[in-house]
Amino acid sequence: MSAAGTQSETLEFQAEVQQLLNLMIHSVYSNREVFLRELISNASDAIDKLRFEALQDESLFEEDPELKIRVTHDPEARTVTVVDNGIGMSRDDVIENLGTIAHSGTRRFLEQLTGDQSKDAQLIGQFGVGFYSAFVVADRVEVYTRKAGAPASAGVLWRSDGQGAYTVDTIERPERGTTVVLHLPESQQEFCDDTRLRNIIRKYSDHISVPIEMPQAQAGDEGEQEADAWEVVNRASALWMRPKSEISEADYKELYKHVAHDFDDPLTWVHNHVEGRQAYVSLLYIPKRPPFDLYEQKPAHGIKLYVRRVFITEDTEHLLPRYLRFVRGVIDSDDLPLNISREMLQHNPMIASIRSASVKRILDRLERMADNEPETYAEFWQAFGRVFKEGVAEDPSNSERIAKLLRFSSTYEEKETPDVSLDDYVGRMKEGQDKIYYVTAESFNAARNSPHLEVFRRYGVEVLLLPDPVDEWLVAHLQEYDGKSLVSVAKGELDLEALGEEEEGEKEEREQKEKTYEELCNRLKEALGDRVNEVRVSHRLTDSPTCLVVGEYDFGMGMQRLLQAAGHQLPTGKPTLEINPDHAIIQHLQAEPQQRFEDWALTLYEQALLAEGGQLEDPAAYVKRVNGLLAG
Ligand code: ADP
Repeated sequence: MSAAGTQSETLEFQAEVQQLLNLMIHSVYSNREVFLRELISNASDAIDKLRFEALQDESLFEEDPELKIRVTHDPEARTVTVVDNGIGMSRDDVIENLGTIAHSGTRRFLEQLTGDQSKDAQLIGQFGVGFYSAFVVADRVEVYTRKAGAPASAGVLWRSDGQGAYTVDTIERPERGTTVVLHLPESQQEFCDDTRLRNIIRKYSDHISVPIEMPQAQAGDEGEQEADAWEVVNRASALWMRPKSEISEADYKELYKHVAHDFDDPLTWVHNHVEGRQAYVSLLYIPKRPPFDLYEQKPAHGIKLYVRRVFITEDTEHLLPRYLRFVRGVIDSDDLPLNISREMLQHNPMIASIRSASVKRILDRLERMADNEPETYAEFWQAFGRVFKEGVAEDPSNSERIAKLLRFSSTYEEKETPDVSLDDYVGRMKEGQDKIYYVTAESFNAARNSPHLEVFRRYGVEVLLLPDPVDEWLVAHLQEYDGKSLVSVAKGELDLEALGEEEEGEKEEREQKEKTYEELCNRLKEALGDRVNEVRVSHRLTDSPTCLVVGEYDFGMGMQRLLQAAGHQLPTGKPTLEINPDHAIIQHLQAEPQQRFEDWALTLYEQALLAEGGQLEDPAAYVKRVNGLLAG
């Protein structure tokens, strides 16, 4: 096979690729026909890339300027072949693209796999396996390719049976672009069928904007087929340019799968033809589920930017803010210069105005969804709420609209699934209540069981439960909603009158207790030294003996830990220890002799710290101390 001068090399797949391949080969894939959609999607991307590069260097078209994809089959040889005259690949490209997975987050994605094939098959769909889906139907795959502009002698042949290794050869290949040949086992014979292939292409790839050609269907007798008669099987026009009324739901969904590299349908989309000072089309999708790399710095996919139907770049930074980084889609501008570079996107005023209009359209869509389809909105929130919340800080110009769309858990029904809006909360506020109360914690249960909530429960005042790390940022930026300030239940002095409903005589009783326990507070402060700023009688507690409170303008304890973990020096003050005068331990402490008093003081402080989700400096000493006290 290898002629003189060719270089044949057998290489092993990167471990992650082999893992994926095994999954592909062995997973009971209900929808095997999507292999063709994936290969055509890659071919179309390769043609997009060529068209873009040819803007700078027309010679890349070589003698073959008509960009197209061809699909053929050979029932005798049992092959299906996909050919494109796109950008093609060099030998290095082939090894890099078909032997490894460059996506950041791949390893983490693979760790999520459960071994349960149907669940894993879904996850694989989200990951977007693309080329490797060839192995769902083929037991052997060959890729012949040559990069545009390279000499015919720089052709490459890649071959593999998907079992651990692949071979790369250098070959002569006069044609630019890529030919993928799938060798099907007998069990997959059904795909070697003209009608079947046409139907698959119409079903999944109609939206592809380059022509997809197949040999003209034979009319009548054998042998009459013209040697080179092809016909275009798809509509071959940019879907997003068509009037909305002419686009079916199915068309929208298939385009989504192509641009988002997702196997699942989108949750929703917004499609706009914009005229006027700037003309462009935007078609933006919200996925159903988070992409695997939602929290990576450099996500693999984003918004495809086109200028007058020519693909320019896939942008993940400039066309939308980061808190909407889960949105996928296409923006096609009539007015941007064709030679716009990625760097130019950053400072281009047209891009800035497309961006702010796109944000508004997405917020509009979400608002309508929240009002009219609360169940769909709940799905959205479940998938993307955490990321969306970043918007309060990131996008001050829209922060009111974003705040309206936020959903929280609260003490109202104590549901872990966040479904309380700030408007719901405000609508339930008690008479005289003028603040929105929240508690941050490290988990839903920690928030729900926080000692700080005790007095709020007693007065029947609702508190928002905020268990995400990002919530700390959220409340740092969202100080007010609907004229009411957001207040942490764990900060500063509580204004009980603001909670309303203080019963007759309660105030006097409180003041009396403060007096009675003043001396105890002083002794505790002395025992705790500079661990705490102050010790005082609490009005928050009904069940717990103690809790820790930070200053009104300090970071919450959780945020302090986050910042410290990130290596920040904090200028914040020490917390205050509050004691519950109605608690048996506190009452008992009044009479405790000095030698055990210090153990009690430390233990109460450390328990309050634990209840906050904090960590003890010396857990073993704590256990010893508690055991000493238990032993009496
Ligand atoms: P994805 O398309 O999601 O990046 P794939 O596994 O489908 O992942 O493909 C990996 C890479 O291989 C592509 O990003 C592309 O660079 C390259 N590739 C695949 N098919 C072709 C093709 N027909 N022409 C040129 N390059 C291709």
